[in-house]
This record gives sequence, C-alpha cells and structure tokens, in this order.
Amino acid sequence: MICPYCQGEMQRGEISADPRGGLFFEPEGKKRTFGDVLCGVGRIEAARGGWSRLRVTADYCHQCKKMIFDTTIAK
Ligand SMILES: [Zn+2]
Repeated sequence: MICPYCQGEMQRGEISADPRGGLFFEPEGKKRTFGDVLCGVGRIEAARGGWSRLRVTADYCHQCKKMIFDTTIAK
C-alpha cells in the first residue's frame, strides 16, 4: 500500500493483542460507560479473535509514523 501522506511504500503487518482485553476505540472526549463495556460498544471489529491473540491486518509508514487499517466500530 502507498502511504497517502508521503507516497512512500507502507509495510503490511498485524497489530496483535491479548484477547482478554479486546481492542476498543474511544472517541476523543467520550469515555466508555460501564454499559458500553458490557455491550462491547467501541470494539474494533477488524480484530480477529483467537484464543491466544487478537489480530488486525494493517499497513504502517515508518516515515510518517502512520498506520492504516479497515474496520467498523461496534455501536
Ligand atoms: Zn508516509
């Protein structure tokens, strides 16, 4: 993938995390409520599950320190 900021080549890879915590997005200025936590609001749906890791395929530009991946956010 070509970086939209510098037009350089981006490096394809994976973000990975412990599946017990999950991956979530919190909009700036809005904290997740306890109800949000229980319902999974803000969950990054691109994260593929596994018993040992969550993984998201992403492209990274070392020059710009930007990362891009496709996802939807759970409502
Ligand atoms: Zn770049």
